[in-house]
Amino acid sequence: MHVALLDILRCPFCGAAMSIVENDALVLDGEQLTEGVLGCECCAYPVVAGIPVMIADEATRRAMHTLEDGRPEDALLCLLGLSEDAARRERFRSLMERGDATYREALEVLCEDAEGTYFLYRFTDATHLTAEALLRAIAQEGWPVQGRTLDLCGGSGHLTRVLTSLMSPGGTPSATVIADVYFWKLWLASRFTAPSAWPVCCDANGPLPFARDTFSTVVLADAYPYIWHKRQLAEEMMRLAGRDGVVVMPHLHSSLGENFSAGDTLTPAAYQSLFAPAGACLFSDQRMRDDVIERRVVDLSLDVSPEELGDEPELTLIATTRIDLFRRYEVPDAYEVTGELAVNPLYRIEPTGGSSLLTLTFPTPEYEEEFGECRRYLPDHVTVQADLSGPIVREAFGSQYRELRDRRVLIDAPVKYY
Ligand SMILES: [Zn+2]
Repeated sequence: MHVALLDILRCPFCGAAMSIVENDALVLDGEQLTEGVLGCECCAYPVVAGIPVMIADEATRRAMHTLEDGRPEDALLCLLGLSEDAARRERFRSLMERGDATYREALEVLCEDAEGTYFLYRFTDATHLTAEALLRAIAQEGWPVQGRTLDLCGGSGHLTRVLTSLMSPGGTPSATVIADVYFWKLWLASRFTAPSAWPVCCDANGPLPFARDTFSTVVLADAYPYIWHKRQLAEEMMRLAGRDGVVVMPHLHSSLGENFSAGDTLTPAAYQSLFAPAGACLFSDQRMRDDVIERRVVDLSLDVSPEELGDEPELTLIATTRIDLFRRYEVPDAYEVTGELAVNPLYRIEPTGGSSLLTLTFPTPEYEEEFGECRRYLPDHVTVQADLSGPIVREAFGSQYRELRDRRVLIDAPVKYY
């Protein structure tokens, strides 16, 4: 945790600023607080593995006392949910001792259900692609990424990674915060997916632990229907974005359409009403996906009424009073490599002489059913004129490189991801 986070961190209960408690648990290395305790006027919260946990429940209290007893590794295992499971705890320990563990390996230990599959292949599913294009589009206006940005319910940091790549270097103060209620997801984000973002563990069903008017962009993708206290969260998101910011909510599930794992959905009219004070506009997700995949365009001049959305299953909500944002954008090309160039793991690779045959292979039938729309850009088979058995470099693909990136066969993955 960067100590500058204290400028914007507030207790979710008393609203007071937090300060570092001077005790034996404190590990402060320059501006990075790795372990310690934060205090406000009512409560105390632990910082474990650099992640402040702004939650007052039994597990968090236990972790804080474990930390104060001088056992930071046990505090970490407790918050990762591994305390009661000796087998998974040992797998995690031996993975960490190796030093070169990947996101994929850590995910296999920390998450044993279908969410792990969703996370692993997240970078190239159609909803992520569309959300990424939307953020790259509005970043062209400048102001949404000149201040701090927040990825709320950010999971293990896939969209956060996009936000950190868009932060304008001249912006002050610029930082991307990722917030989630699940500590293990934030740990993966901070270690692999979005290491430059500031993680904060907090519950979006309660008041958010940040000062008002703190963020120029507040993003919440996919997760809103799973939040019970929707009215309070809407007010909180608008409080954090302030009058000069924007709230961006890609891929909201509508209660009028059919969705996979829909959550407690609302009608489009109800979503719009919750964010009406901030000037909420609605967009068809299907239209936005078609525009991104087929035309490389994000057109925010095409907002629709709830009636026009009808029973479409998904929508995007954008709320800001700065109406200059609602225009048409070309999606910029993305050919740079900020992490590691990798073959999309949805492909099976077979060497054939000096070239490689790639075959699209879904991890499970359920994944294919929910995310099969990726076939619109991922070819079933592709022959690549390169040997992919060693480290992959851009030059090896010659004139094929741009198309392979455009089709998401090759991706810019975080270091040590797959
Ligand atoms: Zn407090």
